[in-house]
Amino acid sequence: MPEEASVPIDSMSGFEFEELVADILARLGYGQVEKILFTQDEGRDILLRSPQGLIVVECKHQPNSGIGRPIVQKLHSAVISSNAAKGMLVTTGHFTNEALDYARKLANSGTIIEMVDKRILADLAMKAKVRLVSGGEGLNVWTWAVPAQADTKKAVGEYLQSVVESHPRVPSSLVVNDQRSVWYRPLYLIIYDVSAIFETSVGVIHRESVKGASLVLDGNTGQVHSSKEAQFLKSEPQVLLATSIAVYPNDLPTFKIDATTLLKTAKRTIIAAHTKTIRYVGRNNQTYHRVCEPSEREVHIRDIRQVHLPSLKIDFQILQTPYQMEAIHARSGRFLTLSTDVTHCRICRKAVERKAILCDICGRVTHSGGFFLGRIHGFRCGKCRRTTCRIDGQWRRKMFLFKELLCPACAQTAKSKGKRVNMFESL
Ligand SMILES: [Zn+2]
Ligand SMILES: [Zn+2]
Ligand SMILES: [Zn+2]
Repeated sequence: MPEEASVPIDSMSGFEFEELVADILARLGYGQVEKILFTQDEGRDILLRSPQGLIVVECKHQPNSGIGRPIVQKLHSAVISSNAAKGMLVTTGHFTNEALDYARKLANSGTIIEMVDKRILADLAMKAKVRLVSGGEGLNVWTWAVPAQADTKKAVGEYLQSVVESHPRVPSSLVVNDQRSVWYRPLYLIIYDVSAIFETSVGVIHRESVKGASLVLDGNTGQVHSSKEAQFLKSEPQVLLATSIAVYPNDLPTFKIDATTLLKTAKRTIIAAHTKTIRYVGRNNQTYHRVCEPSEREVHIRDIRQVHLPSLKIDFQILQTPYQMEAIHARSGRFLTLSTDVTHCRICRKAVERKAILCDICGRVTHSGGFFLGRIHGFRCGKCRRTTCRIDGQWRRKMFLFKELLCPACAQTAKSKGKRVNMFESL
């Protein structure tokens, strides 16, 4: 990830902290995780394979507390017993003077134990482009500047082109009186990995593995947003709000969810999304189903970002008919429609599934097709192909069952030739 990641550390579990440390050290080129050693007191040490040999890393996630000499002694024996090149003791707290003295003595006698306290860890993390957030500090807030209104109008036109048909004029040329308002929605963008293996007596039945997946939660309610939006946000370059705050309004909405609740909600959501029921055949040839649910430790949160997402409310008219749209428009030009009434028929108010007909006379969007008069909401003129709604159009009987549907101009022509034309009845 080229941009900086930020992670709240206070609410992390010991396991998550170990993963974070391993991630930071790997990014800095210390080495790759070789394996995890389980220690007697139910703790774990990470074994890194580095160019200089093995490094045993012991992590103590104990903010505000002092790490004493016994922990250094314990790590020393782990270094000796695993024949490692050196040890690293990493903590979110601090070391007692006794512990530091002891580490110095060990160094003099040839065993290096690198002592990494909260401050040094924060420095290392910064080098790895990870900002550790603790206490009352806020996470980084990201956003982007919205494109010019003329560009948004163009994007709306392109969107219309993809959902409605009109003739002879193209939909984008019929947009008038467009107005745009911008508001900033507080969202959390969470980037995570899942790595879980599920085994039974017949062996591995399922591997759940994703890297750099994204999840978006509402900053006020914690609600999960659409995966389309998460995908959009993840791949859109953002800027740190602090660096360009003058561009944005002062009354930005605030985030109401605290870090602990956020992490809990995120983990729960991620676990639910990656829980699958797997069918497998047992040794006795019977079919079984097993729910494979990743545990909290198998979910690794890599980055949490507060995003003030610029969202657009766009009011516009197509000819005389008013429409609304909510959308996201990014600097890259990408445009995502969140909601709009363009896809609803103005005759019956129901959603239009296939491409809709846009009346070239009034700008109403309608359903197309239908054989019975009552079912026709919009059509193409039988003479000139102009797209027309039933309110503006007329019809005439051609043969016994066959009807011809006409735009106002062609109806006028038919009338002037003495043919009988009819209005559609209102529905
Ligand atoms: Zn309709
Ligand atoms: Zn019309
Ligand atoms: Zn016509």
